[in-house]
Amino acid sequence: MSVSTFSSELEALGLTPFFRQQLLLAFSERANAPPLVAGRIVCERRGEYDVATLEGTLRATLRGRLVHELSSDERPTVGDWVLVEPADPVGRIHERLERQSVLRRVNVDGSSRSQALAANVDVCFVVCALAHDEAGHHVLGRTLNARRVERYLSLAHESSIPALVVVNKADLTSEPEASVSDFRRELPGVEVLLVSAETGHGITELRSRLVPGTTGVLLGSSGVGKSSLTNRLLERTALRTESIREDDGRGRHTTTERQLELLPSGGMIIDTPGLRELAPWANADADTGGSGFADVDELASRCRFGDCQHRDEPGCAVRAALEDGSLATARLEHARKLERERQHQLMRSDARLRSEAKKKHRALSRFVRDRVKTKRGDD
Ligand code: GDP
Ligand code: ZN
Repeated sequence: MSVSTFSSELEALGLTPFFRQQLLLAFSERANAPPLVAGRIVCERRGEYDVATLEGTLRATLRGRLVHELSSDERPTVGDWVLVEPADPVGRIHERLERQSVLRRVNVDGSSRSQALAANVDVCFVVCALAHDEAGHHVLGRTLNARRVERYLSLAHESSIPALVVVNKADLTSEPEASVSDFRRELPGVEVLLVSAETGHGITELRSRLVPGTTGVLLGSSGVGKSSLTNRLLERTALRTESIREDDGRGRHTTTERQLELLPSGGMIIDTPGLRELAPWANADADTGGSGFADVDELASRCRFGDCQHRDEPGCAVRAALEDGSLATARLEHARKLERERQHQLMRSDARLRSEAKKKHRALSRFVRDRVKTKRGDD
């Protein structure tokens, strides 16, 4: 089997030279072994996968050896490229290709392990939503929360995946642009798109971020409209929004199923229902560089001394920005808080991660640690 013969169709599924090379190698090593099919995981539920391949979508489970060899966050997840031995009704996954990126969070079981949410993601959309302004009463403070958004942005940053913010439900206020202006100011250097899944406002712009072959993921609290946006991008009716919910008698809740869908316009989208508990996974291996707060990093880089602690050094740009009000105290405190969480988590990880983290420490981290006792940021 030659990989080049099927590359153009697989390219639509996100196959890049990085994966094609791995496929060529894998196939050349298996000359006389049973034939395997290359594909991308589009759905995962309770250990069973749906894999999109040139032969259609195949059901598959992990080969026993992989179950033992791979830790939980190394196991295939939605977005991964895998090699499947097809079988009726359920085939077997023989191999998972090396990932180009992986979106991780701290495992919800409270252990120090990470959990892979999605693999091979090119862009993260952090979704939040406007609320009704009945009789001119703005209730935006409750809904547009820059601190919450920063948490998701730092998740993307830790995974080295570009991110932008999507403010949904623009149709709910009479002056949506005015409603987000403060929010924009609170998130310097972050792109904020204003959209409405209901009216379609801004959807073309959103869709343009997903050129053919690229994969986006929607992150954000329940109820902000992630499913509705997915439906819009997929140009299908909103019926799906309700059908992916289950009712177990304890009230409505979202399934934990994640799904990768191909858009009519060419890109792909991964919806992540039920992403409630969210602590970014501190990736000490990746050279993500900086704190995820681009403006704070930028200020720190302008301090006179490279190892500035932002205390009483002359020429400290961070302190100057705090004093002239161009850097909000709340934002800096949230940067510290997330950095503390990151450090705490790294401490709980293994010694290798810990020592690497130390090496990569920057002035901001030191600054943050030194001020642990200062008042907590709201979150
Ligand atoms: P999810 O939990 O993030 O997937 O959110 P859903 O897509 O289920 O949407 C939650 C609720 O918000 C539903 O009742 C939607 O109909 C509603 N909704 C979603 N997008 C919009 C929008 O752009 N405008 C308005 N007015 N309502 C929306
Ligand atoms: Zn400084």
